Amino acid sequence: AAVDFTDQCTVVTGASSGIGAAFARELARRGSDLVLVARRLDRLEALAEELRDAHGVRATPIALDLSLPGAGRALAADLGDRGIPVTGLVNNAGFGTDNLFHTEDPAALSDEITVDVANLVDLTRAFIGPLRASGNGILVNVASMAAYSPTPGMAVYGACKAFVLSFTEALWYESRGTGLRVLSLAPGLTRTEFFDDLSGGAYKGSYETPEQVVRTALRALDRGRRPSVQSGRRNALAGRLPRLVTRRRA
Ligand code: NDP
Repeated sequence: AAVDFTDQCTVVTGASSGIGAAFARELARRGSDLVLVARRLDRLEALAEELRDAHGVRATPIALDLSLPGAGRALAADLGDRGIPVTGLVNNAGFGTDNLFHTEDPAALSDEITVDVANLVDLTRAFIGPLRASGNGILVNVASMAAYSPTPGMAVYGACKAFVLSFTEALWYESRGTGLRVLSLAPGLTRTEFFDDLSGGAYKGSYETPEQVVRTALRALDRGRRPSVQSGRRNALAGRLPRLVTRRRA
């Protein structure tokens, strides 16, 4: 049966743009209250107002830098203090650089691991109890096609996303029978700020929109039968991205 989002409250990280903002809009349309998390508070506030006006849901913007170790646990404590009950979590915040490993700034690599993995794990651990208890909540962790396709220039990013994939599929098994819907979402190339930055305009092929990616995710959640879903043209890209990046570096 389709997920019933009424009386739910879903935390969406990385809600200030791209896939996260599209997720927040779709969940609000289906009746979920929201906690919107990212660094750019102005964007979160504008989105919260839009969602309140359009759908009458409660939307709480929270500015947070998830590249700081412990930020995920701090957010959970903050929501506890405010008495906001959380029944859903979309761990969408993420970023990756695309420099060859031996040239990359070590601090950037460490930030990637903190945002893409460490705080994702901390947030999941902090909320998994309430999520399981809610009976009809969702847990979506945003991986990437990079999880399936080791790519030069994205060694740490791809490995982080492979972590997310394996981690989330394991939780899918652990959640069976609880009513909690768990999903690892692997978008392909998606037209957002993220890929515009990363590709440097080099990729001229087809993109999906964030709305298409979110539709794929919600279809999979509503069916609730699979631990992971890929969106878009992963296969078209899997062999080409490594060549594309390498050529650009040559
Ligand atoms: P965007 O760059 O549009 O969105 C990334 C979001 O993550 C923003 O809301 C950003 O908010 C947030 N974020 C980044 N760093 C931090 C941080 N340190 N603290 C808090 N929030 C942070 O890109 P996408 O929508 O494309 O990315 C969403 C997810 O999709 C990511 O996990 C990405 O890896 C994944 N993905 C994207 C693909 C694509 O082709 N676009 C393909 C496969 C996966 P702010 O800057 O305000 O903090």
